[in-house]
Amino acid sequence: MIMSGDMIIAITYLYANRRNIMANFYCKWCGSKYSSVSSLVNSSCSDSPSRKHELYEGPEENYYYCVYCGNKYSSLSSLVHSSCSDSPSRKHVPFDGGEKAQYTCKYCGTTYSSLSSLVHSSCSKSPTRKHQPAK
Ligand SMILES: [Zn+2]
Ligand SMILES: [Zn+2]
Ligand SMILES: [Zn+2]
Repeated sequence: MIMSGDMIIAITYLYANRRNIMANFYCKWCGSKYSSVSSLVNSSCSDSPSRKHELYEGPEENYYYCVYCGNKYSSLSSLVHSSCSDSPSRKHVPFDGGEKAQYTCKYCGTTYSSLSSLVHSSCSKSPTRKHQPAK
């Protein structure tokens, strides 16, 4: 299929619009919400290893999933403040790939229909011996 110039402009416009709706920015360590990236990254964060907030790069969703255990939370701040027995930091870490119909292991390429079944299955190619989701 060959895309016309008009079509490319329409897609670019749609994409730009989608980004504009996302007016909130969240820290991936503590879940704090900021209205601009610069104010987020310049504030200090007691939960971050670097002591500064770091931007959560995933989309705003109805639910957020832990990348280590697959648990689902309705807000980023409740996710990051709950303890996680599967995470090296002992806290849940948000998966920033968004909600998907299928999740793929970034080491072996196996696909699963849920994040929690992916992260709980063993993987011979992964350094942690468990599948890890690709974004
Ligand atoms: Zn933070
Ligand atoms: Zn977790
Ligand atoms: Zn795998």
